[in-house]
Amino acid sequence: MTDCNYTYKHYIETLLLARAKGYSFITFDELMHGNPKEPYILLRHDVDQRIEPVKAMNELEMINDITSTWFLRVHGRFNILFKRNLDAISELMHVGLHADSYFKKIEYDAEILEAMLGHSILYYSVHDINREVKNNGAKDLICVDFDKLKQYNLKYISDSSHQWREGCMCKWIEKGEPRLYVLIHPMWWFVETSQENY
Ligand SMILES: [Zn+2]
Ligand SMILES: [Zn+2]
Repeated sequence: MTDCNYTYKHYIETLLLARAKGYSFITFDELMHGNPKEPYILLRHDVDQRIEPVKAMNELEMINDITSTWFLRVHGRFNILFKRNLDAISELMHVGLHADSYFKKIEYDAEILEAMLGHSILYYSVHDINREVKNNGAKDLICVDFDKLKQYNLKYISDSSHQWREGCMCKWIEKGEPRLYVLIHPMWWFVETSQENY
């Protein structure tokens, strides 16, 4: 293992370490309806600003057979209608909505994503978690923010603000934490330097 950092190299070697230790990578469907076997990792990506890092990280995961769920913002700095962005997101296996609370009507945003992707959106995460997201019940959307998943007794860690507050995910995998919920923001990860993503 290399030292802890935010390179793709450390990212993928950490996930391969998990696989070697018997972890499986599960979806939100499997968490809620599948009774998954431990140890497992629920891997979530919130896509805040740019699509480019999504493509790189998704390709890395696909060639290594890693399952994750991508939560896409409809009101981010990228335009999901651009063909190159649509091409990138159409390769993602599992997609949810990364909801902007100030737009209030998240079911509309989910419908935009559904129209782009051609399948329904069931899950959402909240971009600005200090504000309330209103779901008027027009659609059965399920929030996957950590405080909404308490019943599953998961250990939640996140690279939010480019910082693992409770230590890098590799440490939790080395320790054998049985039910890991890992939030990764693709924009914080790079080949050699963080400048690549700005
Ligand atoms: Zn590490
Ligand atoms: Zn966000």
